[in-house]
Amino acid sequence: MNLIDVTKAFSTEEACLEFLEHLRWPAGVRCLKCDGDKLSRIERKSRTKNKRTRLFQCLNPECKYQFTPTTGTIFADSHLPLTKWFLAIGLMLNAKKGLSAKQMQRDLGTGYQTAWYLCHRIRKAMEEGQLPMLTGVVEADETYVGGKSRNMHKDVRQRKITGTGGMDKFPVFGMVQRGGKVEAYSVPNVRKEVLVGKIRDRVSSDAEVVVTDEWCGYSGLNATHRHEVINHIREWARGAVHTNTIENFWSLFKRGLMGSFHKVSLKHLNRYLAEFTYRFNRREDADIFLQTLVRLVGTSVMPYENLVSDN
Ligand SMILES: [Zn+2]
Repeated sequence: MNLIDVTKAFSTEEACLEFLEHLRWPAGVRCLKCDGDKLSRIERKSRTKNKRTRLFQCLNPECKYQFTPTTGTIFADSHLPLTKWFLAIGLMLNAKKGLSAKQMQRDLGTGYQTAWYLCHRIRKAMEEGQLPMLTGVVEADETYVGGKSRNMHKDVRQRKITGTGGMDKFPVFGMVQRGGKVEAYSVPNVRKEVLVGKIRDRVSSDAEVVVTDEWCGYSGLNATHRHEVINHIREWARGAVHTNTIENFWSLFKRGLMGSFHKVSLKHLNRYLAEFTYRFNRREDADIFLQTLVRLVGTSVMPYENLVSDN
């Protein structure tokens, strides 16, 4: 579903509510509290344009619970019309290199804080849970993202103590199963115990091969995995032995950070990584909009206070 389809299909609040209702209860609405199916549907006349207009009243006399298609979801407690939510999801999925809160603010015509909070809530729904172990041909690569390169070899925890965080470069580490999914993490440093540790955690020991560059942070990996090294000074690929997929991912991520996000704090880095891996891993999926809505409906409310604390 492309952006034009999204704006066409979800141009009214009613259309969005209708869609969410069928997404949540494909076999008919049931009470969120007692699971009863005796309900009355109240179409509420909306006095303001932002008011949810669809209300269910449980008819079980013990329960009498009232709820809407958004109750208990990330859409609840949001004053933003669902049409804007849906458009925001479409915009974020469409933006290969990411979308800044500033751009979202312009596209939706909302305040900056609303746009920022919205981006973070959609991003949260993009976090993958525990994925299966990687196998086959696996590429692994470490790099630095963010602002200035000074201090880049210091440990992140150490930098926090010296108060030079914020605009520094942060070490990140990623892996991809060739033909499969990318996963990427912010890491405290790129030393051997971190990188080899992460590979041993996440790559099956019967994987065909793990390909990395010649960085010393991968030494000793061959004790548990077949390890091939590409020396980028001499060559970029030796047949199937290359790290091009994960490097493509990093270049997309870095361009995204440069163009769309002026500064990335360590606190949000993992969420940005989640957003980029999510889009990258689904770049061929025609139903990515639907997949994302399903996740948003299943994602509980994320309080604004949790996002802004410790910043
Ligand atoms: Zn009930």
